[in-house]
Amino acid sequence: MVALQRALGSHVTVLFGHEQGKYPDGNSVLVRGEHSSVVIDPALSARTMDPPLEVSTVLLTHTHEDHAAGVSAVRCDDVRVHEADLDALRSVDDLMRLYGLPPDAWPAMIDMVSDRFHFEGGPNATAVTDGEVLDLGGVTVTVVHAPGHTAGHCVYLIESLDGTRVVVTGDIDLSTFGPYYGDAASSLDDFENTLAKVRELQAHHYVTFHHKGVIDGHDAFAAAVDAYVAVFARRESALLDLLATPRTFDELVADGIVYRAGTRPPVFGESVERRSIQQHLDRVVANGAVATDGRQYWRP
Ligand SMILES: [Zn+2]
Repeated sequence: MVALQRALGSHVTVLFGHEQGKYPDGNSVLVRGEHSSVVIDPALSARTMDPPLEVSTVLLTHTHEDHAAGVSAVRCDDVRVHEADLDALRSVDDLMRLYGLPPDAWPAMIDMVSDRFHFEGGPNATAVTDGEVLDLGGVTVTVVHAPGHTAGHCVYLIESLDGTRVVVTGDIDLSTFGPYYGDAASSLDDFENTLAKVRELQAHHYVTFHHKGVIDGHDAFAAAVDAYVAVFARRESALLDLLATPRTFDELVADGIVYRAGTRPPVFGESVERRSIQQHLDRVVANGAVATDGRQYWRP
C-alpha cells in the first residue's frame, strides 16, 4: 500500500508519494466511478501497491519520466496523454527530443529514465483532447489543456455528483522553485497564459504532483498561483542584474537564473538553464531593456 492517502469526497483518493511527492516521487490521484476508474500520473510509489492498482484508464498530465514512472505497474491497457506529448510517451527517443537534450546527453538520460523511472515507452498509448470528458459513473474527469511546462501539459477537473470538485494540476506544482519551462517542448509564454487560465478554475481541492500535495479552497490556490507567477519576474530581474555589465550568452548560462550556483542537476541542468535564459533574453531584447551586438548582451 501507499503509505498515506486522503479521500476528497466519495470518488477521489490522493495517493501521496514519499515526502509529499518530492521528486523523484509524486502524488497520484485515483478516481473511482460507478462503472470505470482512472488513475492520474501513477508515480514511483504506485509501483509499491499490493495488490497492484487496477483501473480502466491511466491519464497523464504530461510526458515526463516521474509522471509515467508507475504506468507499467498498473493493470490497465488504456494509457492516455495529450496528443502534443503522445510521441514522447510512445518512444524513449521522442522523450529525449521533448527534453531537447544534446545527443551526447542521451545515453545517460535514457539510462536514468529506464532504470530509475521504469520508462518503457507505450506504443499503444492514445491521445486526450482539450475539453474531452470521461464519464466514470457519478463522477466525470474533464481535460483542460494547460501548455507551457510541456506542449501537451493538461490539468484535470474532476466533478462528482456529491458536489466535490477537484483539480489535478500536474507540474503546475506551485513550488518555491517556480515554473519549469526548460525543455524543447516548453514555453514561457504559454506557461504564463496557462497560469492565468488555471487560476480561475473553481474547486474545493487542488492536487499538485510535487511538494504542496493538496491545497484546500480557491483562495489558498489563487494565492499560491500568484506566488508562483512572481518567480517569472524574479528570474527576469536576476537576468537584468547580471547584465549590469556586458556578457555573452554562455557567460549568462554559467551564472544562471533558474538553478542557483551549485544546485544545477547533472545531465540536463545546463540544457534547462540555456533554454530558460534564452526565452527571458528574447523578451528583454524585444522590449528594449537589453541590447545586443549578436555576441554580447547589456543594459543600454
Ligand atoms: Zn514535468
